[in-house]
Amino acid sequence: MYLKKLELQGFKSFADKVTLDFEKGVTAIVGPNGSGKSNISDAIRLVLGEQSIKSLRGSKLEDVIFAGSENRKPLGFCEINLTLDNSDGYLPFDYTEVVITRKIFRSGESEFFINKTPCRLKDIYELFLDTGVGKEGYSIIGQGRIDEILSAKPEDRRQIFEEAIGISKYRYKKEEAERKLTAANDNLLRLNDIVVELE
Ligand code: ATP
Repeated sequence: MYLKKLELQGFKSFADKVTLDFEKGVTAIVGPNGSGKSNISDAIRLVLGEQSIKSLRGSKLEDVIFAGSENRKPLGFCEINLTLDNSDGYLPFDYTEVVITRKIFRSGESEFFINKTPCRLKDIYELFLDTGVGKEGYSIIGQGRIDEILSAKPEDRRQIFEEAIGISKYRYKKEEAERKLTAANDNLLRLNDIVVELE
């Protein structure tokens, strides 16, 4: 699996539609200060489900939508499309190409799609679990992240190793099952109260 293409429209400094094609191997993005290099990695994190606006260098979600310039009005929404080549079947998905889309509106709402089919953020999270690619993955190492990893508490560092060896999925499923069990127990308690009232 590798990152094949990134399409941006209305995202931060990219008002018009921009397509970046990535070849296999190493790609370097170079440009003057402020030309939008970091905006590209922000877009990748955002489409993979990043919810922390701070880490995307804004204060609210709508800050990622093109804010207008001297001769252009601000835009109402932005769209990010990330294409991954999955011809090696690395992702548990029956397609050789996986396109993840996120649309963000000024209202702060987001819409997510996998191969043009609407989905939930949770579906994207689950698709990338244990691949190292998701929003908590280690495939994007931002400025200062290495220091953060080195000085992190052992429990926090452990998360990175768990993702790498493929057990995050089981931890996630266990937590989900525990949440469901708690909800079922709460419902049982409520049912018992009703039964007692009716008796
Ligand atoms: P450096 O080399 O200094 O780190 P960079 O190439 O990584 O710079 P970015 O930080 O990616 O640059 O881009 C910053 C530019 O993006 C700034 O010019 C800023 O005005 C612009 N920008 C950020 N958010 C928006 C927005 N919502 N609308 C329009 N432009 C934006």
